[in-house]
Amino acid sequence: MVNTVLGRISANKMGATMAHEHCFMDSDVLLHVKPEDVPKRFAHLFYEPVSIANLDEVKRAARYCVDNGNNDNFAERVQELNAFKAAGGGTVVDVTVAAYGRDNHVHKLPQVSKISGVNIVAATGHMFEATHPPRIKEQTAEQVAQDFIKEITEGIMETGIKAGVIKTALSPNRFTDADKKIIKAAAIAQKETGVPMTTHTWGDRPGKWPGFKVIEMLQRNDVDPKKFYMSHIEWTERLEENWGVPIRAAATGVYLCIDNFGRDFPYGSAVNEHGYIGCQTDVDRVKLIKRLIAEGYEDMIVVGHDSAYKVQKLAYGGPGLGHILNSVPNLFKHLGINQRYFKKITVHNPQKLFS
Ligand SMILES: [Zn+2]
Repeated sequence: MVNTVLGRISANKMGATMAHEHCFMDSDVLLHVKPEDVPKRFAHLFYEPVSIANLDEVKRAARYCVDNGNNDNFAERVQELNAFKAAGGGTVVDVTVAAYGRDNHVHKLPQVSKISGVNIVAATGHMFEATHPPRIKEQTAEQVAQDFIKEITEGIMETGIKAGVIKTALSPNRFTDADKKIIKAAAIAQKETGVPMTTHTWGDRPGKWPGFKVIEMLQRNDVDPKKFYMSHIEWTERLEENWGVPIRAAATGVYLCIDNFGRDFPYGSAVNEHGYIGCQTDVDRVKLIKRLIAEGYEDMIVVGHDSAYKVQKLAYGGPGLGHILNSVPNLFKHLGINQRYFKKITVHNPQKLFS
């Protein structure tokens, strides 16, 4: 059974599922980027509203524009979910946590779910240390785990909405003790409740990819690898030369989430000082899928758009939440991948992960 914002459903009712998305979100930029850290050529974006005149720049520097992360418009959220439904979509896993505005908006999720007919799974958990609420410093991993368990079994705040996924993260360029505390807490809550967990990881050079440290922690804490998915797996430096990172990760038995579909960074993304993202397009993502299938890991792949920013939304000229279902089958065809794998990745794999 899966906790959705409208109650429990059986996993075989999930349909085509996006494993890493954001519906309502308040900007994350002010939490971890200071205006003086923004490279000079993007400095003007910091307080500029997203507009047709800066759209291309904001796409390349998504995390340097405060307004880009402000996604609280109700009609726009309905538009995205309607587009997903029209494309054949069933379920959106919304991994937004409190630091990104979850608590300000979670009460609206049942409404947009009802209007659009899309199942929404809400999250408990925390992002990386710079975004932690102050109380985390005083809490033990066991106490944090109890907070997560309460949100999964009783509900988020007083809403009665039960979380169906646990979100964690690594700090950009380092894995801090506070990050480790959250991952330990998530491991405890995962084992107690059975809901899957995921980690936002940054990319890096092959020998340095920080995701392996998370996988080691999960192994030490006896978390079933089949209840874990590693988000943003495609953020590996020179992905096509370094398939070893995702393949070694898949070999540990965890799910890999290729979840930046529709976000094209052919020239890189201007966030390297705040965590490595690298240069990828949808073609690179589908080539990674092809390689994972060739290695026998077709059961380990899930996907999403990580639809966190205005520039990804239909209202701002973006590809919208229907993008994967509308456009990626064509890329499978173009790269010679059998369409049955598309169904496996979008429907069957997330169903197993969440069941
Ligand atoms: Zn995300």
